[in-house]
Amino acid sequence: MKVLKFGGTSVGSADSIRTVISIIENNLERGEHIAVVFSAMGGVTNKLIEIGKMAASGNTEYIEFLKVVEERHFAVVRGLINVKHQSSTFAAVRGLFNELGDILKGVSWIRELSDRTLDLIMSFGERLSTLVITEILRSKGINAEFCDARQIIHTNATYGMGDVNFEVTNHQILEYFAKSTALQCVTGFIASTAEGITTTLGRGGSDYTASIIGAALEADSIEIWTDVDGMMTADPRKVANAFTIPSISYAEAMELSHFGAKVIYPPSLQPAFAKNITLKVLNTFNVDFEGTYVQKAANGKEYAITGISSIDEIALVNIQGSGMIGVAGISGRLFTALSNNSISVILISQASSEHSICFSIDPKNAQKAREILEKEFSAEIAIGHIDGISIEKNLSIIAIVGEGMKKSTGVSGKLFSVLGKNGINVVATAQGSSELNISVVISKSDLSKALNAIHGVFFQSETRSLNLFIVGVGLIGGTLLEQIRNQTGYLREEKLLNLNIAGLSNTKKMLLDPDGIKPDQWRDRINDEGVKTSLPAFVQRMIELNLPNSVFVDCTSDKDIVQYYHMLLDASISVVTPNKVANSGSYSEYLALQRTALQRGVKFLYETNVGAGLPIINTIQGLMASGDKFLKIEAILSGTLSYIFNSFGPSVRFADVVREAKAKGFTEPDPREDLSGADVARKILILAREVGVPLEAEEITIAQILPDNCLKANSVDSFFEEMEVSDSFFAGLRENAEAEGKKLRYIASLENGKALVQLQTVDAQHPFYTLSGSDNIISFTTERYKDRPLVIKGPGAGAEVTASGVFADIMSISSYLG
Ligand code: ADP
Ligand code: ASP
Ligand code: MG
Repeated sequence: MKVLKFGGTSVGSADSIRTVISIIENNLERGEHIAVVFSAMGGVTNKLIEIGKMAASGNTEYIEFLKVVEERHFAVVRGLINVKHQSSTFAAVRGLFNELGDILKGVSWIRELSDRTLDLIMSFGERLSTLVITEILRSKGINAEFCDARQIIHTNATYGMGDVNFEVTNHQILEYFAKSTALQCVTGFIASTAEGITTTLGRGGSDYTASIIGAALEADSIEIWTDVDGMMTADPRKVANAFTIPSISYAEAMELSHFGAKVIYPPSLQPAFAKNITLKVLNTFNVDFEGTYVQKAANGKEYAITGISSIDEIALVNIQGSGMIGVAGISGRLFTALSNNSISVILISQASSEHSICFSIDPKNAQKAREILEKEFSAEIAIGHIDGISIEKNLSIIAIVGEGMKKSTGVSGKLFSVLGKNGINVVATAQGSSELNISVVISKSDLSKALNAIHGVFFQSETRSLNLFIVGVGLIGGTLLEQIRNQTGYLREEKLLNLNIAGLSNTKKMLLDPDGIKPDQWRDRINDEGVKTSLPAFVQRMIELNLPNSVFVDCTSDKDIVQYYHMLLDASISVVTPNKVANSGSYSEYLALQRTALQRGVKFLYETNVGAGLPIINTIQGLMASGDKFLKIEAILSGTLSYIFNSFGPSVRFADVVREAKAKGFTEPDPREDLSGADVARKILILAREVGVPLEAEEITIAQILPDNCLKANSVDSFFEEMEVSDSFFAGLRENAEAEGKKLRYIASLENGKALVQLQTVDAQHPFYTLSGSDNIISFTTERYKDRPLVIKGPGAGAEVTASGVFADIMSISSYLG
């Protein structure tokens, strides 16, 4: 024998009821002996509560609301029962609505809605749905019988959530079913006291009805038919990547449901467990799917945990005081007082100092809890042994659950580490001694991010996701997107990494989409769907989205954008950028950014600030971290100036070399920005800071190459003219160098805490002598690399190499977060 229970969505419309009927018919055709339990049509219980409250407040609009509920039931009758059989069902449904209408009229007269009356009002939901479905089955020739569970399930008089008297109930169920031969269609959720007063089993209680009946009849299995593919690793409405748990133990299912996995009503597990009956969670809308088997022992555990659940809204009550230390009985009194007032406690955490106890409860009980505790501990509060009771709201609880925790170490480490890396503050935590559950209390605003991030590390350790927000999709940003596009398949398959482009912005338009912008569609999408760019709005939206593993990629050279880095790092969003502005501002700002990143457990990466994609900053950081000391840095850090001096030969004028470099796009629009040394100075400044020298920009000495007349020319054109005028000066520099067998090189250096940028001549022995094209070269003399310096050389400019440097930074964040 089997008991099947169909939930609210399953019986929510004529269409879904059609599927339910076919599931029942299939069972009967297979010769299965079954009983069926139905919930109210989806949403009806909530509506009935609302209607009851309206009536109690004297709002006669409830009559209209009731009509809508009535019409929903009529529509099912019209849709699923042939005309011949309709009228008797209409009459029965109308009869129930008349009865309900009378009760509501009474409520509106006396303007009072007790829990007892509310239970009676709610009972109509299940009575109606079950009545209608029974009639549909009968109209199809099935020998079905309506069973009002109030006849067989008895509870005490705790309205809203009656306590089942199993002795009486089990006996009545056995007796009732022994007498019947027809298919029993049982109302879920409702019961009655011994005196026949209607009670309910608590919200979601139809599952319990099925379990009570299944256990009493010692059924082979109890099937909970719902609207999702069984019990899943997390609520699929909150975690898109959640997947079905094929097999789970009663204890695990209990923990998950107790902490918010509403797919099973927690008390339902007990009767099934006591009789060792398999409980199956199945999907009415995906009939062939195997769903979840809840049994004594789960088989085949692949992951360290089984599932994650959450309670979205809780209040945390904290009671503390020096007088609590070592005093026996405080917690006993506390929880007895709460329990005497029917306030259930979801989580308790006590510091080992016994200085404080905190526990979480439903926020609707918060005020009542405060009053109860202030009364209970009034004497202690009066003499200052207890400081008082504080209540914090807007919090959520997340629980990770699984029997596998007992066997594997590091589960809580992983949990707290992923929360930390995503900047999620843990307000309180508790681990059950059964090691089945670790719960954390966090801010409600972090709930979605936390659930997704936790799910990511425990269930998709294979595939990690980074959420990228890229600002500046010009040359470098555009190239980066192209590189991402080319690598997407490889990264996903080989590196198990999903790069989700969650936001893009150019100077005109921006687009944010947490579901991702495909890298081959970004141009069209930003054009079609983008809105006018507003950096503050972009940043605010990013922070609001609160996606796990977020990375802000600044591919601009904008000065204003930098002001947001701090805010972003503070919101636990990593920042990757080739933009030098932040690191070459004041030293205190440089330090502040480093510190914020460290504190928030995120990354601020800027390898491409110096030498494009060459591994310069990483090398420095590696050497510094391992304790090496820098004695001297010498470097050619401007691809532009390298190109200019490498092309400056005997047969060309300096002005023409610069003109050509400008035409090739190697220089800034005004080449003086390169030739003035300012850009190189910024780079050596950043390197100085990286090796621990706290320099400011003004402390760098720049020996000017350009004569005054060139520097002071008031336009780019006249600058070129002035360079022609000064041609002999430039030619002289070159000729003097050549006469000594040397070459002109624009070198930045750092030694003894002093940074210098100047044009130098180097001979053939010097490592910089052979530099060609627009390459950069950098030589580090350190305590370890003293005799022969460590030299890094290669292309130090260009969109392709810069973008790949940015890409490498992004990749290093992915392995850090992994
Ligand atoms: P029914 O009306 O069938 O009783 P419920 O709404 O009570 O259905 O429960 C099913 C819902 O539970 C799902 O739609 C889903 O959003 C939610 N849910 C929460 N946590 C989980 C989980 N871990 N697995 C499956 N569903 C879950
Ligand atoms: N209809 C009831 C409720 O909404 C019981 C149930 O659906 O299980 O809570
Ligand atoms: Mg339910």
